[in-house]
Amino acid sequence: MKRIYFDNNSTTRLHPEVLEKMLPYFRDTYGNASSIHWFGQEARRGMDRARERVANLIGASSDEIVFTSGGTEADNQALLGITDAIGKPGSRIITTAIEHQAVLNSCRFLEKKGFLVTYLPVDSRGRIDTGTLADSIDDDVILISIMLANNEVGTIQPVREAAELAKSKGILFHTDAVQAAGRIPIDVRQLGVDLLSLSGHKFHGPKGCGALFVRSGIPGPVLIHGGHHERRMRAGTENVSAIVGFGQASVLAGMRLKDTYTLVGFLRDRLEKGILERVAGVKVNGCPELRLPNTLNVSFDDVDAQLLVMNLDLMGIAVSTGSACQSDTREPSYVLSAMGCSIEQASSAIRFSLGADNTAEEVDFVLNTLPELVEELRH
Ligand code: PLP
Repeated sequence: MKRIYFDNNSTTRLHPEVLEKMLPYFRDTYGNASSIHWFGQEARRGMDRARERVANLIGASSDEIVFTSGGTEADNQALLGITDAIGKPGSRIITTAIEHQAVLNSCRFLEKKGFLVTYLPVDSRGRIDTGTLADSIDDDVILISIMLANNEVGTIQPVREAAELAKSKGILFHTDAVQAAGRIPIDVRQLGVDLLSLSGHKFHGPKGCGALFVRSGIPGPVLIHGGHHERRMRAGTENVSAIVGFGQASVLAGMRLKDTYTLVGFLRDRLEKGILERVAGVKVNGCPELRLPNTLNVSFDDVDAQLLVMNLDLMGIAVSTGSACQSDTREPSYVLSAMGCSIEQASSAIRFSLGADNTAEEVDFVLNTLPELVEELRH
């Protein structure tokens, strides 16, 4: 059976060129990047190159990149590290109700430690209102964390305006750019953010490798304590081969950003248009104008989304009901609930997330398969 992968917001296929770049670091140059002999120095050089490449993807300088084990760790480091560096009990953090759990559960942990957290609401398209943000700021706020693009519906937030507001009040600003990186252009200077989280496996790099951009001059957030790695901001022997792969994935993502994602956007729009034409009782969730080009979240009236995902899988089509991290729960999506969807709409929503490998034929196969499946499930 031909298999179609429309779940790129969960993870992406490792690019063959990325794998090629990684292999020598398992086989030959396997030194510890802190060692002074040849093996160590070769590993160090590979890591330095990767650091520059990751920095280039987001317009940062290489000494502002701290490698982590992925997006979750980068988010934890930003929130827990900054509150540890500059917070005191009673300090406040502002975030949104639709962040990834890596941010939300870090905030809940901080609430237990005596910090206060404001969760900004979003409108029916998943956007925050910068006026509401401005009204929530007071002297106790030390950090604002607002994601660049949402993983379930793809909505892009007004991060530049929000970061400007934070700067004008002397508040540090973090953005989770895990889903945005490699899909829309990112420039940390233009965005005006102090901290930004990335994850390699969302743009054809290896799993278990990410980075936190830490703007020069801000207090260094530390989450993992130990040796002097990563300019004392993240202890632990570096995962050199994965970091090298992450660097190569960043080069490819930067090169392909415009063309690939224009094409992916066409495919996503073709899929969306086709579903709206061929299936009655559907609602597209998210912000049509400000949305990741690869993401389509749709509710199908009177359909159990889990059953639809399983039935599509039987036909060789991989999609998801939303966040991969929540796929083990039957709870309706908190993102869709925050956007005002009813429990029925939230429980009948599936996410198609396309990628650079997808084709128009695959979209058409889905369009030919889906209407009948939806009809069957409705009966
Ligand atoms: N932030 C967002 C918006 C995500 O979508 C994800 C993963 O789905 C993460 C953070 C966590 O990244 P990682 O899987 O690298 O830990």
